[in-house]
Amino acid sequence: MKKKIALISGITGQDGSYLAEFLLKKNYIVHGIKRKSSSFNTERVDHIYENYQKSKNFYLHYGDLIDSNSLFNLVHKIKPDEIYNLGAQSHVGHSFEIPEYTSEVTGIGTLRFLEAIRFLNLKKTKFYQASTSELFGQKDKRNVFSERSNLVPKSPYGVSKLYSYWITKLYREAYGIFACNGILFNHESPRRGETFVTRKITMFLAKKYFGSKEVLKLGNINAKRDWGHAKDYVELQWKMLQKKTPTDYVIATGKSYSVKEFINFCCNYLKFKIIWKGSGLNTKCFLIKSDGSKELLIKIDKKYYRPVDID
Ligand code: NAP
Ligand code: GDP
Repeated sequence: MKKKIALISGITGQDGSYLAEFLLKKNYIVHGIKRKSSSFNTERVDHIYENYQKSKNFYLHYGDLIDSNSLFNLVHKIKPDEIYNLGAQSHVGHSFEIPEYTSEVTGIGTLRFLEAIRFLNLKKTKFYQASTSELFGQKDKRNVFSERSNLVPKSPYGVSKLYSYWITKLYREAYGIFACNGILFNHESPRRGETFVTRKITMFLAKKYFGSKEVLKLGNINAKRDWGHAKDYVELQWKMLQKKTPTDYVIATGKSYSVKEFINFCCNYLKFKIIWKGSGLNTKCFLIKSDGSKELLIKIDKKYYRPVDID
């Protein structure tokens, strides 16, 4: 039987690397798009390359979501059965600092892919768009969302993803492209980028465990998130493209926790005794040492608050 072919943008990221492993185990031929960087950016997929290079099932190509020609040429050459558009400037906080770039990559990048499928008349190519719970913006009073909830994003990242969401829906309806939006809530793993809050905290606490003297600076620790595992969520991305008809799906665990609760959980796991003092910007967290003395562990820094920080 002919092997299925997948093309993944964002293969060097958290989800891209897990999805590549998942699809290779399903006997796909996997092509990934990596962007040109002045330093190494393939550490999440280097092990895959080593394992699958000989079997000719895994390929990496240079390309960029802001470069239509590179995307068009790759889609034309590979003619994938499935395209997973996971590439993005994916950091909400950073999107306030680089809003135009974020719109180009995270918004218009999606259009570039869809236009390639349309122009090349690839009737059998299915398209997955990495949408996000950031589309919902402010949480409503009941804090429950569905595929029918209002979409009111509160960041340049969310607004860019909203464009991608609608253009994906539009190309499905207007041109009959099999295209799905996966509206995923946060998902984490040891491969999560180090500037996202879960990794920032766990890496800091791991270093502290081994004697580091650093103090962690955080933003809004009352913000709540629904955190799932990336490995589970990439399987659902694939499942969406295996359905008979394309549509959009919300993926979440259904439980949310605050950043503070996440810290408490991690400290408990490491058997760190901690105490919280103060409130708002003056909140501090202290580590109680075995001799009873206190060491400052975490403090709040306004710098890590977002212009619209939702708690
Ligand atoms: P990630 O680890 O930040 O990976 C993003 C990927 O996009 C990286 O491979 C990155 O390449 C690539 N990329 C960035 N700019 C690009 C450009 N101009 N052209 C081509 N590729 C570019 O993100 P993730 O956590 O795996 O998330 C995957 C997707 O799901 C993203 O679209 C994200 O916005 C979305 N999403 C994520 C979550 C979550 O909680 N993780 C939730 C909802 C939606 P480099 O490695 O070179 O930087
Ligand atoms: P996001 O949900 O995609 O923005 O994922 P993040 O991991 O970046 O942020 C999750 C939540 O943690 C957001 O509400 C942030 O405001 C909050 N947060 C609090 N302090 C920090 C911090 O120092 N860094 C980051 N990245 N987020 C923080």
